[in-house]
Amino acid sequence: MPEETIFSKIVRREIPAEIVYQDELVTAFKDINPRAPLHVLVIPNEPIPTAADVTEAHEALLGRVFRVATQVAAEAGVAERGYRLIVNCREHGGQEVDHLHMHVVGGRPLGRFLPD
Ligand code: AMP
Repeated sequence: MPEETIFSKIVRREIPAEIVYQDELVTAFKDINPRAPLHVLVIPNEPIPTAADVTEAHEALLGRVFRVATQVAAEAGVAERGYRLIVNCREHGGQEVDHLHMHVVGGRPLGRFLPD
């Protein structure tokens, strides 16, 4: 098993977090440092370190991550105007926590995807 991060403790509710959704596969909780009115992280309960560690065995799990992310956005009322889903991978991708997570960010115009 990969090394655990603080996100596994959130999944097990050992440290506080504003969990907005949880099932047997995934957990969604508010980002502690929100960059937009809606900023939720959706994570697999199982700690996959990075996107680069995804295998065929994770296909259904990641489908759930994606579906819950879009559900969170819809429930927050941002789906019509749009939002952004982000998965940072490793050092150059700006990943800080080595437990794969999808950012759901919205509620304001987010500008261009990347600076030119
Ligand atoms: P990344 O840079 O993609 O690895 O994003 C990590 C995100 O996790 C950052 O946006 C942090 O603000 C967020 N974060 C770190 N610790 C916590 C925590 N305990 N609860 C909620 N969000 C957290």
